Amino acid sequence: MTKPAIARVALDHLHAGTFDYLVAPGVHARPGQLVSVPFGRRQCIGIVCDVGEDSALPLERLKPLTTLCEAWPPLRPEWLALVGFAAGYYQRGIGEVALPAVPAGLRDPKRWARQQRSQRRYVATAAGRAALPGALPARASAQRRLAEALLAAPLAADALSSLHPRAAALLDDWQAAGWVGMVTEAASSDAVDQRLVANLVSEPVAEPVADAVTSASVARALASEAPAASIDRLPTLTDEQRAAVDAIAGASGFDAFLLHGITGSGKTEVYLRAVAHCLAQDADAQALLLVPEINLTPQFMGRLRARFAALGEHGVVALHSGLSEGERAANWLAAHQGRARIVIGTRLAALASFRKLSLLIVDEEHEAAYKQQEGLRYSARDLCVWRAKHLGVPVVLGSATPSLESWCHAEQGRYRRLVLSRRPAADTAALPTVRTVDLDAHKRQGRLSGDGLSSTLLDAMRERLARGEQSLLFLNRRGYAPVLSCDACGWVSECTHCSAYLVLHRGDGMLRCHHCSWQEAIPHACPSCGNIDLRPLGRGTQRIEAALAEVMPDARVLRIDADSTRRRGSAEALFADVHAGRVDVLIGTNMVAKGHDFQRVTLVGVLNADSALFSHDFRASERLFGQLMQVAGRAGRADLPGEVLIQTRYPHHPLYAALARHDYAGYARMLTNERRDAHLPPFIHQALLKAEARTLEGALAFLEDAAARFDTLDVAADGRVVRYAPVPLAMVKINDTYRAQLLLESASRQALHLALSAWRDTLGGHGVLRWAIEVDPLEI
Ligand code: ADP
Ligand code: ZN
Ligand code: ZN
Repeated sequence: MTKPAIARVALDHLHAGTFDYLVAPGVHARPGQLVSVPFGRRQCIGIVCDVGEDSALPLERLKPLTTLCEAWPPLRPEWLALVGFAAGYYQRGIGEVALPAVPAGLRDPKRWARQQRSQRRYVATAAGRAALPGALPARASAQRRLAEALLAAPLAADALSSLHPRAAALLDDWQAAGWVGMVTEAASSDAVDQRLVANLVSEPVAEPVADAVTSASVARALASEAPAASIDRLPTLTDEQRAAVDAIAGASGFDAFLLHGITGSGKTEVYLRAVAHCLAQDADAQALLLVPEINLTPQFMGRLRARFAALGEHGVVALHSGLSEGERAANWLAAHQGRARIVIGTRLAALASFRKLSLLIVDEEHEAAYKQQEGLRYSARDLCVWRAKHLGVPVVLGSATPSLESWCHAEQGRYRRLVLSRRPAADTAALPTVRTVDLDAHKRQGRLSGDGLSSTLLDAMRERLARGEQSLLFLNRRGYAPVLSCDACGWVSECTHCSAYLVLHRGDGMLRCHHCSWQEAIPHACPSCGNIDLRPLGRGTQRIEAALAEVMPDARVLRIDADSTRRRGSAEALFADVHAGRVDVLIGTNMVAKGHDFQRVTLVGVLNADSALFSHDFRASERLFGQLMQVAGRAGRADLPGEVLIQTRYPHHPLYAALARHDYAGYARMLTNERRDAHLPPFIHQALLKAEARTLEGALAFLEDAAARFDTLDVAADGRVVRYAPVPLAMVKINDTYRAQLLLESASRQALHLALSAWRDTLGGHGVLRWAIEVDPLEI
């Protein structure tokens, strides 16, 4: 008697491994298949990770697999390896990683059945081919059309009704006569994919992209049917761009590139050429391009669709959380089945499934947005590097201000550095002049408005207005003012649920917490002493907007922040207004700093950047430098020179001085030395154990207990991992939940991971308390 097969199934359960299920005789379960299985009293969706013959449990205790998804090919071993790695590295259960990575719309047995039905195809048998042409009466023209269609190609079951109103019944008759057979194409997975791909790309193009001319011909060859006019006119690459493209195209197997290009140096063009080269190598090849924010996808999508018109609308797809569930499922499947040749997405796309992923690109690789802060706390950038290595394909990390981690990898030769040091039209699109504006001096001289705008900045903005150019004011704080206060008694607006101030929102008259959903009407008088003279402290974007309406009444002012773009699609509309020149002054938070190519902005004003200079967070200055370099890069991109004015109380701070010299490398070297001396990342590896509880005491007690357990572990004995004492977070309370954490540190990545996995097993469940391990935290 043959042994029954056992499927090891990953389920989305906290910190769990896989669960064993019996595979009934005749059922063909394969690794990577989605399944529906009984779990306790419920049915759960899982993923088969492995099929074997043994189980640690007695067979009679195992439940059978109930429903398997045959609607599309199983997830590939490469994908299973990726989620397996991520689970191990980030200390989570495999199912906690794997299942959320599959769009919810696809984790649905009803959909599997539906999709499978719609994938049934009727094909003419040999007997049918011989008999059908002569068997139909001459007058039955609709039947003839159906027969002709069937003889020409397999007929999709869901396309029948358009051919003949009784098509299904007729086909049943023909099937009974032995003229017609049925196939389900998805089950034979790759055969379908192959055909779809073959339809998209008329012929494989093998020639490497040697220069603009051949890459245009590649694009044309990819464009089997698209009219030639739809192909972008390709710019001639600069020498630096050329060298970068050649290096990426010349990579054989895994290679990690750090594309360090100043803002406006044409990194995007390098990405596009690298993608073109990759797709031209192989008719199945796929490329993934990650961007840090949903808002950046439309711009990129436009350029990709124009450049790769040949791939059709479905050949280039987006994957991010702003899509409807249906779109996301469809796009995910398109990538999984290989129909989508290019995927552009936010961090979640790093965990997408591909048929043949051949090139990975992470734009603005330094962005904190690539780090997921909830659930599986992964770094999408780091996973891309791992994935590229595992697949043996190139990965490109691009930035004007690389993360110190990536910078150090390049310094040590682990990543290959590609430098774009100039803008393509360097004579006209020069780098902006960066100057500091001394706030204290302006104040002494009475040249600072009550809303914190210096006369120097205002004059510069008025000049732009007179010339019909645009100004951008960068202030990374939304709302009107960060806090409302009473001078008489010292009351300040605080959230009762968080250790945070309530932010004043003038527009709708509310005090609002930016950390929980709490909001309340602005009080008419001080809740504590009754004083009616309450004062907003500090400035947010709304306040600057209001101030400008007074001092520059003729200017068309637009604010772009999370408040003004709450509705779906509204950010896109606002950015379109800027691009179309319907705006004179743009005020914005970090949302406007990244990636956007504003052709008419010639002045950037930076308000209130100083607070990050003296933060307790050692990464704050690295982030600030990146942000300011990005936002400065918005100035003077076309043929107009740009200027950046930074309002500050520390006009001689080294960070601003490096910025004025456009000297990222110098600044990075300085930071690197500081971090090395202080034993901080990337010279040391860190992990946090975070706890959340109803009381601070509860959270700390859990961590104290965890600390004691840690100290008894064998892996703790050699002292290679340093354990710090539990501490409350700087923002200790959010939404009535108290937060504390414990830091582990080691110079050895391996020692840290050994310790973490041994420790994790001792932590267990703790009722109302929530805990999580965060590996490589960005904020501590
Ligand atoms: P980055 O992403 O590095 O900030 P972009 O890719 O947005 O820069 O490029 C800046 C501008 O330069 C864009 O308008 C782009 O079309 C243009 N550009 C890029 N490469 C070239 C080139 N080789 N010749 C002329 N213009 C170019
Ligand atoms: Zn008061
Ligand atoms: Zn709150």
